Amino acid sequence: MTDVTAMTATQIAGLVATGAASAVEVTQAHLDRIAAVDGRVNAFLHVDTEGALAAARDIDARRAAGEELGPLAGVPVAVKDVLTTKGVPTTVGSKILEGWRPPYDSTIVERLRAAGTVMLGKTNMDEFAMGSSTEYSAYGPSRNPWDTDRIPGGSGGGSAAALAAYEAPLAIGSDTGGSIRQPGAVTGTVGAKPTYGGTSRYGLVAFSSSLDTPGPCARTVLDAALLHAAIGGHDPRDSTSIPAPVPDVVAAAKLGATGDLSGVRLGIVTEFGGEGAEPGVMATFREAVDTLTKLGAEIVEISCPHFRYALPAYYLIAPSECSSNLARFDGVRFGLRTGDDGNRSLEEVMSLTREAGFGPEVKRRIMLGTYALSSGYYDAYYGQAQKVRTLITRDFTAAFERVDALISPTTPFVAFPLGARTSDPYQMYLADLFTIPSNLYGGPGISVPCGLSEGLPVGLQVMAPTMADDRMYRVAAALESAVGTFTPPAL
Ligand code: GLN
Repeated sequence: MTDVTAMTATQIAGLVATGAASAVEVTQAHLDRIAAVDGRVNAFLHVDTEGALAAARDIDARRAAGEELGPLAGVPVAVKDVLTTKGVPTTVGSKILEGWRPPYDSTIVERLRAAGTVMLGKTNMDEFAMGSSTEYSAYGPSRNPWDTDRIPGGSGGGSAAALAAYEAPLAIGSDTGGSIRQPGAVTGTVGAKPTYGGTSRYGLVAFSSSLDTPGPCARTVLDAALLHAAIGGHDPRDSTSIPAPVPDVVAAAKLGATGDLSGVRLGIVTEFGGEGAEPGVMATFREAVDTLTKLGAEIVEISCPHFRYALPAYYLIAPSECSSNLARFDGVRFGLRTGDDGNRSLEEVMSLTREAGFGPEVKRRIMLGTYALSSGYYDAYYGQAQKVRTLITRDFTAAFERVDALISPTTPFVAFPLGARTSDPYQMYLADLFTIPSNLYGGPGISVPCGLSEGLPVGLQVMAPTMADDRMYRVAAALESAVGTFTPPAL
């Protein structure tokens, strides 16, 4: 059998469906690959060898019994450690949840199982999904397979690195301000943030509830679409879940793959004209825009004047919501408990636990958010940021009256060296300059590889109106059909 770890999810599913390979063989090949390379990549926090092989055996048995299986049956998937997995450790990259085994599966994980995928394990991430490099993980950084001295992006760097290192053909991420798209961009993989509410947050450990969106990561646009279709759709257990079917993202990816974008109007945002971005990234982006034009797309420049306030608004709204959400980690209910010697008060144990369990970035956000929400400052900070959010939404609405989708580079810079931005939080926050607006608006966004700069991957972002996720898949698949996929040097 040829090396299945080099194959796309679509190809693997085909092998399993025809019986050319068993789900167990496919799973074992990926477990072997993880054993061989993950010491250098650190994409996984937990590899569920037994669980994965048991799931694979189950798929093989069902296939042998003639059961009709879904389009991703037998395909391995890596899951960001922000989603609860029944009986399988879930840390959110934090010491405060070390050793916690959730009593239930998140909806996303439930749907992955129902689709017949095989969960390999849980991937590394910045603590509580706060960060852009995976360096804020309490379990050491993940490394970029393109250059292991560089970051794989964040917060979902583990999921993206697992794909680029061929440890898994599919992965799940979560995107609050860019954590699916930005790691996708810097590892040369595909990452899609669905419409907010289009994928369930049930069992997603909360960071900023009005922004958090789980979504698919893959090495091709079609694979991402197949995964999106498998995990998306209404969930009565999530009160902000949209009670409507997922747009047909798979058909859109297939349509895009024909390479014809005639009749499609794409907007380039004036405010994303290059300020703060690396010249090499902008040059690669402009070449991709030329390619989109050759595929038939019409390019229009559009001003979105409030996008420049997206970063400051996000860094008030997200910490505010996190300061409230993270209050539940009190040393009583889950995970770590410090200083409980029988003599200390509940309050002392709580504060010792939070002191020991949270890392510096999480503490910074909790303090910032608590301050922004405090009486007397609420209107000046949180209230003001919410008004800016409305203005950004209006910019999107106005833009989508003129174009079908907006495009930009996904990130202002290629993967940076480990340690380059950890001493200045603001430098780290800048990594999400181009991804945050669509989180504040709630619309979908995808990052697709569009070329290399200095030998490192550059991503192109496509942003679409809410519940028009199919449009971004069409554009991304068309670009992919023209520029191809990108493979890192052998590890
Ligand atoms: N980098 C951003 C932050 O630190 C976004 C994180 C995310 O999308 N989870 O908040």
